[in-house]
Amino acid sequence: MELIDSQGRVHDYLRISVTDRCNLRCLYCMGPEGITQIPHQEILSYEEIIQVIKTATPLGIRRIRITGGEPLTRKGLPRLLEQISEIPAIKDLSMTTNGILLPRYAASLKAAGLKRVNISLDSLKPEKYRAITRKGDLSQALRGIDTALELGLTPVKINTVLIKGFNDDEVPELIKLVQEKPVHLRFIEYMPIGDHDHNYSQHYLPLSFVQEAARAAGLPLTPTAPRTGAGPAEWFTIPGGQGTVGLIHPISRHYCHHCNRLRLTPDGYIKTCLYWEHEYPVRPCINDPEALTRLLLTAVKEKPARHLMQQETGAKTPRARRSMSKTGG
Ligand code: SAM
Ligand code: SF4
Repeated sequence: MELIDSQGRVHDYLRISVTDRCNLRCLYCMGPEGITQIPHQEILSYEEIIQVIKTATPLGIRRIRITGGEPLTRKGLPRLLEQISEIPAIKDLSMTTNGILLPRYAASLKAAGLKRVNISLDSLKPEKYRAITRKGDLSQALRGIDTALELGLTPVKINTVLIKGFNDDEVPELIKLVQEKPVHLRFIEYMPIGDHDHNYSQHYLPLSFVQEAARAAGLPLTPTAPRTGAGPAEWFTIPGGQGTVGLIHPISRHYCHHCNRLRLTPDGYIKTCLYWEHEYPVRPCINDPEALTRLLLTAVKEKPARHLMQQETGAKTPRARRSMSKTGG
Protein backbone atom coordinates (compact mmCIF):
# COMPACT_ATOMS: atom_id res chain seq x y z
CA MET A 1 0.00 0.00 0.00
CA GLU A 2 1.40 3.35 -1.02
CA LEU A 3 0.15 6.91 -1.06
CA ILE A 4 -0.40 7.14 -4.82
CA ASP A 5 -3.24 9.30 -6.07
CA SER A 6 -5.46 9.20 -9.16
CA GLN A 7 -2.82 11.16 -11.09
CA GLY A 8 -0.08 8.66 -10.25
CA ARG A 9 1.64 11.09 -7.86
CA VAL A 10 3.60 9.30 -5.14
CA HIS A 11 3.43 11.04 -1.75
CA ASP A 12 6.54 10.76 0.39
CA TYR A 13 6.45 14.17 2.06
CA LEU A 14 4.46 15.23 5.13
CA ARG A 15 4.40 18.83 6.29
CA ILE A 16 3.32 19.23 9.88
CA SER A 17 2.07 22.51 11.29
CA VAL A 18 2.76 22.22 15.01
CA THR A 19 1.06 25.49 15.99
CA ASP A 20 -1.07 28.26 14.51
CA ARG A 21 0.53 30.81 16.87
CA CYS A 22 3.18 33.22 15.64
CA ASN A 23 5.50 35.92 16.96
CA LEU A 24 5.06 37.95 13.72
CA ARG A 25 2.00 39.19 11.80
CA CYS A 26 3.00 39.10 8.12
CA LEU A 27 0.47 41.07 6.17
CA TYR A 28 -0.07 38.33 3.55
CA CYS A 29 -0.65 35.71 6.25
CA MET A 30 -2.69 37.30 9.06
CA GLY A 31 -4.34 40.51 10.20
CA PRO A 32 -2.68 42.98 12.60
CA GLU A 33 -4.27 41.28 15.61
CA GLY A 34 -3.22 37.82 14.45
CA ILE A 35 -5.65 34.96 13.91
CA THR A 36 -8.53 33.48 15.84
CA GLN A 37 -6.46 30.91 17.68
CA ILE A 38 -7.23 27.22 17.77
CA PRO A 39 -8.00 26.37 21.44
CA HIS A 40 -5.07 24.65 23.18
CA GLN A 41 -7.00 21.45 23.83
CA GLU A 42 -7.62 21.05 20.08
CA ILE A 43 -3.92 21.21 19.17
CA LEU A 44 -2.43 17.78 18.48
CA SER A 45 -0.05 16.58 21.18
CA TYR A 46 3.45 15.45 20.21
CA GLU A 47 2.39 11.88 20.95
CA GLU A 48 -0.50 12.20 18.48
CA ILE A 49 1.79 13.69 15.83
CA ILE A 50 4.19 10.76 16.27
CA GLN A 51 1.27 8.34 15.90
CA VAL A 52 0.40 9.89 12.54
CA ILE A 53 4.01 9.74 11.34
CA LYS A 54 4.41 6.12 12.43
CA THR A 55 1.26 5.21 10.50
CA ALA A 56 2.37 7.18 7.45
CA THR A 57 5.90 5.77 7.11
CA PRO A 58 4.82 2.23 6.09
CA LEU A 59 2.82 3.99 3.35
CA GLY A 60 5.94 5.67 1.99
CA ILE A 61 6.35 8.94 3.90
CA ARG A 62 10.12 9.60 4.11
CA ARG A 63 10.42 13.34 4.56
CA ILE A 64 9.00 15.58 7.27
CA ARG A 65 8.88 19.35 7.42
CA ILE A 66 7.91 21.10 10.64
CA THR A 67 6.12 24.39 10.10
CA GLY A 68 3.34 26.57 11.52
CA GLY A 69 2.45 29.31 12.48
CA GLU A 70 5.87 29.84 13.90
CA PRO A 71 7.04 26.38 14.98
CA LEU A 72 9.64 27.80 17.39
CA THR A 73 6.87 29.31 19.53
CA ARG A 74 5.71 25.80 20.50
CA LYS A 75 7.20 24.57 23.77
CA GLY A 76 9.49 21.56 23.83
CA LEU A 77 9.90 21.29 20.07
CA PRO A 78 13.30 19.51 20.29
CA ARG A 79 11.47 16.68 22.10
CA LEU A 80 9.25 16.18 19.04
CA LEU A 81 12.20 16.36 16.64
CA GLU A 82 14.10 13.82 18.68
CA GLN A 83 11.21 11.37 18.48
CA ILE A 84 10.83 11.90 14.72
CA SER A 85 14.57 11.37 14.19
CA GLU A 86 14.32 8.02 15.93
CA ILE A 87 11.91 6.72 13.26
CA PRO A 88 14.29 4.89 10.87
CA ALA A 89 12.16 5.43 7.74
CA ILE A 90 12.44 9.21 8.00
CA LYS A 91 15.32 10.33 5.79
CA ASP A 92 14.87 14.09 5.92
CA LEU A 93 13.73 16.36 8.73
CA SER A 94 13.47 20.07 7.98
CA MET A 95 11.72 23.15 9.29
CA THR A 96 10.26 26.38 7.96
CA THR A 97 10.67 29.30 10.36
CA ASN A 98 10.81 33.08 10.37
CA GLY A 99 14.22 32.66 12.03
CA ILE A 100 13.64 35.13 14.86
CA LEU A 101 14.06 32.50 17.60
CA LEU A 102 16.71 30.43 15.84
CA PRO A 103 19.70 31.90 17.73
CA ARG A 104 18.06 30.68 20.94
CA TYR A 105 16.97 27.21 19.79
CA ALA A 106 19.07 26.17 16.78
CA ALA A 107 21.69 24.21 18.73
CA SER A 108 19.12 22.09 20.58
CA LEU A 109 17.13 21.55 17.37
CA LYS A 110 20.25 20.39 15.57
CA ALA A 111 21.13 18.07 18.47
CA ALA A 112 17.59 16.67 18.25
CA GLY A 113 18.09 15.73 14.60
CA LEU A 114 16.94 18.74 12.56
CA LYS A 115 18.81 18.63 9.23
CA ARG A 116 18.04 21.94 7.55
CA VAL A 117 15.88 25.06 7.64
CA ASN A 118 13.97 27.36 5.33
CA ILE A 119 13.87 30.89 6.71
CA SER A 120 11.34 33.48 5.58
CA LEU A 121 12.74 36.89 4.71
CA ASP A 122 10.85 39.35 2.53
CA SER A 123 13.02 42.44 2.80
CA LEU A 124 16.55 43.56 3.57
CA LYS A 125 15.42 47.01 4.68
CA PRO A 126 14.70 47.18 8.43
CA GLU A 127 11.69 49.49 8.11
CA LYS A 128 10.22 47.46 5.22
CA TYR A 129 10.80 44.19 7.08
CA ARG A 130 8.91 45.64 10.03
CA ALA A 131 6.09 46.89 7.79
CA ILE A 132 5.62 43.47 6.17
CA THR A 133 5.90 41.47 9.40
CA ARG A 134 4.25 44.26 11.43
CA LYS A 135 6.56 43.65 14.40
CA GLY A 136 9.72 41.93 13.21
CA ASP A 137 13.30 43.08 13.73
CA LEU A 138 15.36 42.43 10.60
CA SER A 139 18.61 42.06 12.54
CA GLN A 140 17.11 39.14 14.50
CA ALA A 141 16.03 37.35 11.32
CA LEU A 142 19.50 37.86 9.80
CA ARG A 143 21.07 36.53 12.99
CA GLY A 144 18.82 33.49 12.61
CA ILE A 145 20.16 32.90 9.09
CA ASP A 146 23.77 33.23 10.25
CA THR A 147 23.16 30.86 13.16
CA ALA A 148 21.69 28.25 10.81
CA LEU A 149 24.73 28.55 8.54
CA GLU A 150 27.19 28.38 11.43
CA LEU A 151 25.54 25.25 12.85
CA GLY A 152 25.32 23.54 9.46
CA LEU A 153 21.52 23.42 9.23
CA THR A 154 22.13 23.37 5.50
CA PRO A 155 21.24 23.88 2.76
CA VAL A 156 19.70 27.06 4.17
CA LYS A 157 16.87 28.23 1.93
CA ILE A 158 15.40 31.71 2.17
CA ASN A 159 11.68 32.07 1.35
CA THR A 160 10.71 35.44 -0.10
CA VAL A 161 7.12 36.21 -1.04
CA LEU A 162 7.05 38.79 -3.83
CA ILE A 163 4.62 41.54 -2.80
CA LYS A 164 3.89 44.31 -5.29
CA GLY A 165 4.38 47.71 -3.70
CA PHE A 166 6.42 46.27 -0.82
CA ASN A 167 9.49 44.37 -1.97
CA ASP A 168 9.34 44.37 -5.78
CA ASP A 169 11.90 47.21 -5.70
CA GLU A 170 14.34 44.99 -3.78
CA VAL A 171 14.66 42.03 -6.17
CA PRO A 172 18.34 42.72 -7.12
CA GLU A 173 19.39 43.32 -3.48
CA LEU A 174 17.66 40.15 -2.36
CA ILE A 175 19.30 38.16 -5.16
CA LYS A 176 22.71 39.54 -4.14
CA LEU A 177 22.25 37.78 -0.80
CA VAL A 178 23.31 34.56 -2.54
CA GLN A 179 26.54 36.26 -3.54
CA GLU A 180 27.15 37.28 0.07
CA LYS A 181 26.11 34.06 1.83
CA PRO A 182 25.89 30.38 0.87
CA VAL A 183 22.10 30.43 0.89
CA HIS A 184 19.45 29.45 -1.64
CA LEU A 185 16.92 32.21 -2.18
CA ARG A 186 13.43 31.20 -3.34
CA PHE A 187 10.93 33.76 -4.54
CA ILE A 188 7.35 32.62 -3.98
CA GLU A 189 4.24 34.02 -5.61
CA TYR A 190 1.74 35.57 -3.25
CA MET A 191 -1.20 33.18 -2.89
CA PRO A 192 -4.81 34.11 -2.09
CA ILE A 193 -4.65 32.38 1.28
CA GLY A 194 -4.75 34.01 4.65
CA ASP A 195 -6.73 35.21 7.62
CA HIS A 196 -6.68 38.89 6.68
CA ASP A 197 -8.16 41.48 4.34
CA HIS A 198 -4.92 42.51 2.63
CA ASN A 199 -5.78 43.38 -0.96
CA TYR A 200 -4.46 40.33 -2.78
CA SER A 201 -5.18 41.43 -6.34
CA GLN A 202 -3.39 44.70 -5.78
CA HIS A 203 -0.25 43.04 -4.39
CA TYR A 204 0.15 39.88 -6.47
CA LEU A 205 2.95 39.86 -9.07
CA PRO A 206 3.90 36.93 -11.30
CA LEU A 207 7.50 35.77 -10.88
CA SER A 208 8.35 36.60 -14.49
CA PHE A 209 8.90 39.99 -12.84
CA VAL A 210 11.89 38.59 -10.92
CA GLN A 211 13.58 37.38 -14.06
CA GLU A 212 13.11 40.73 -15.77
CA ALA A 213 14.30 42.71 -12.73
CA ALA A 214 17.34 40.45 -12.36
CA ARG A 215 18.28 40.83 -16.04
CA ALA A 216 17.87 44.62 -15.85
CA ALA A 217 20.21 44.68 -12.83
CA GLY A 218 22.92 42.69 -14.62
CA LEU A 219 22.20 39.53 -12.64
CA PRO A 220 20.82 37.19 -15.30
CA LEU A 221 19.29 33.98 -13.98
CA THR A 222 20.71 30.89 -15.68
CA PRO A 223 18.71 27.67 -15.25
CA THR A 224 20.59 24.95 -13.39
CA ALA A 225 20.83 21.72 -15.32
CA PRO A 226 19.63 19.20 -14.46
CA ARG A 227 16.68 20.38 -12.38
CA THR A 228 17.89 20.67 -8.74
CA GLY A 229 15.89 19.35 -5.78
CA ALA A 230 12.61 17.50 -5.54
CA GLY A 231 10.54 20.56 -4.59
CA PRO A 232 8.43 22.90 -6.70
CA ALA A 233 11.16 25.48 -7.33
CA GLU A 234 12.89 26.06 -10.64
CA TRP A 235 16.51 26.78 -9.80
CA PHE A 236 18.90 29.28 -11.35
CA THR A 237 22.48 30.37 -10.85
CA ILE A 238 23.73 33.95 -10.91
CA PRO A 239 27.22 35.30 -11.57
CA GLY A 240 29.32 34.95 -8.40
CA GLY A 241 26.55 33.19 -6.50
CA GLN A 242 27.49 30.93 -3.58
CA GLY A 243 23.95 29.59 -3.63
CA THR A 244 21.10 29.48 -6.15
CA VAL A 245 17.93 31.44 -6.86
CA GLY A 246 14.65 29.54 -7.04
CA LEU A 247 11.28 30.55 -8.43
CA ILE A 248 8.11 29.02 -7.02
CA HIS A 249 5.12 30.10 -9.06
CA PRO A 250 1.95 28.39 -7.82
CA ILE A 251 -0.25 30.95 -9.60
CA SER A 252 1.31 31.88 -12.93
CA ARG A 253 2.58 28.35 -13.65
CA HIS A 254 1.26 25.79 -11.21
CA TYR A 255 3.33 22.69 -10.46
CA CYS A 256 0.52 20.49 -9.14
CA HIS A 257 1.60 17.63 -11.43
CA HIS A 258 4.77 17.33 -9.26
CA CYS A 259 2.96 17.58 -5.91
CA ASN A 260 4.15 14.88 -3.52
CA ARG A 261 3.01 16.38 -0.23
CA LEU A 262 0.41 15.98 2.46
CA ARG A 263 -0.20 18.42 5.28
CA LEU A 264 -1.14 17.80 8.89
CA THR A 265 -2.80 20.81 10.53
CA PRO A 266 -2.22 21.82 14.18
CA ASP A 267 -5.73 20.66 15.07
CA GLY A 268 -5.28 17.30 13.41
CA TYR A 269 -6.62 17.35 9.88
CA ILE A 270 -4.93 15.92 6.81
CA LYS A 271 -5.02 18.33 3.90
CA THR A 272 -3.93 17.12 0.49
CA CYS A 273 -3.95 20.53 -1.17
CA LEU A 274 -3.40 24.04 0.21
CA TYR A 275 -6.35 25.34 -1.75
CA TRP A 276 -8.90 22.60 -1.36
CA GLU A 277 -11.35 22.70 1.52
CA HIS A 278 -11.55 18.94 2.10
CA GLU A 279 -9.96 17.90 5.39
CA TYR A 280 -9.63 14.48 7.00
CA PRO A 281 -9.65 14.36 10.84
CA VAL A 282 -7.00 12.09 12.37
CA ARG A 283 -8.18 12.40 16.01
CA PRO A 284 -11.11 9.97 15.78
CA CYS A 285 -8.75 7.21 14.65
CA ILE A 286 -5.50 8.27 16.32
CA ASN A 287 -5.25 5.06 18.36
CA ASP A 288 -6.38 2.77 15.56
CA PRO A 289 -3.54 2.35 13.04
CA GLU A 290 -5.73 0.48 10.56
CA ALA A 291 -8.39 3.21 10.51
CA LEU A 292 -5.69 5.89 10.33
CA THR A 293 -4.09 4.07 7.40
CA ARG A 294 -7.46 3.98 5.64
CA LEU A 295 -7.93 7.68 6.29
CA LEU A 296 -4.55 8.54 4.75
CA LEU A 297 -5.20 6.35 1.72
CA THR A 298 -8.66 7.87 1.21
CA ALA A 299 -7.32 11.40 1.52
CA VAL A 300 -4.69 10.75 -1.15
CA LYS A 301 -7.16 8.93 -3.40
CA GLU A 302 -9.47 11.97 -3.29
CA LYS A 303 -6.72 14.53 -3.83
CA PRO A 304 -7.67 16.99 -6.59
CA ALA A 305 -5.57 17.04 -9.75
CA ARG A 306 -4.68 20.68 -9.19
CA HIS A 307 -5.57 23.74 -7.14
CA LEU A 308 -7.72 26.53 -8.54
CA MET A 309 -5.89 29.57 -7.24
CA GLN A 310 -5.31 30.89 -10.75
CA GLN A 311 -9.03 31.46 -11.06
CA GLU A 312 -9.00 33.61 -7.96
CA THR A 313 -6.72 36.37 -9.13
CA GLY A 314 -9.61 38.62 -10.20
CA ALA A 315 -10.59 41.77 -8.35
CA LYS A 316 -12.69 39.95 -5.77
CA THR A 317 -10.58 37.16 -4.40
CA PRO A 318 -12.19 34.43 -2.33
CA ARG A 319 -9.72 32.96 0.11
CA ALA A 320 -9.14 29.43 1.26
CA ARG A 321 -11.18 29.05 4.45
CA ARG A 322 -8.24 27.80 6.50
CA SER A 323 -5.48 30.38 6.89
CA MET A 324 -1.86 29.62 6.02
CA SER A 325 -0.72 29.55 9.66
CA LYS A 326 -3.44 27.01 10.50
CA THR A 327 -2.49 24.90 7.49
CA GLY A 328 1.29 25.01 7.45
CA GLY A 329 2.84 26.86 4.53
N1 SAM B 1 6.30 31.08 10.39
C1 SAM B 1 7.11 30.34 9.52
C2 SAM B 1 7.65 31.19 8.41
O1 SAM B 1 7.13 32.29 8.21
O2 SAM B 1 8.57 30.76 7.74
C3 SAM B 1 6.45 29.10 8.95
C4 SAM B 1 5.00 29.21 8.55
S1 SAM B 1 4.67 30.29 7.19
C5 SAM B 1 2.93 30.13 7.02
C6 SAM B 1 5.36 29.33 5.85
C7 SAM B 1 5.61 30.07 4.59
O3 SAM B 1 4.37 30.45 4.03
C8 SAM B 1 6.44 31.34 4.74
O4 SAM B 1 7.57 31.28 3.90
C9 SAM B 1 5.49 32.44 4.30
O5 SAM B 1 6.18 33.47 3.66
C10 SAM B 1 4.57 31.68 3.38
N2 SAM B 1 3.26 32.33 3.20
C11 SAM B 1 2.37 32.68 4.15
N3 SAM B 1 1.26 33.24 3.59
C12 SAM B 1 1.48 33.24 2.24
C13 SAM B 1 0.73 33.69 1.12
N4 SAM B 1 -0.48 34.25 1.26
N5 SAM B 1 1.26 33.51 -0.11
C14 SAM B 1 2.48 32.93 -0.27
N6 SAM B 1 3.23 32.49 0.75
C15 SAM B 1 2.75 32.65 1.99
FE1 SF4 C 1 4.03 34.09 11.13
FE2 SF4 C 1 5.12 32.74 9.12
FE3 SF4 C 1 2.62 33.74 8.92
FE4 SF4 C 1 4.67 35.41 8.96
S1 SF4 C 1 4.25 33.86 7.39
S2 SF4 C 1 2.78 35.62 10.16
S3 SF4 C 1 6.07 34.42 10.29
S4 SF4 C 1 3.27 32.16 10.28
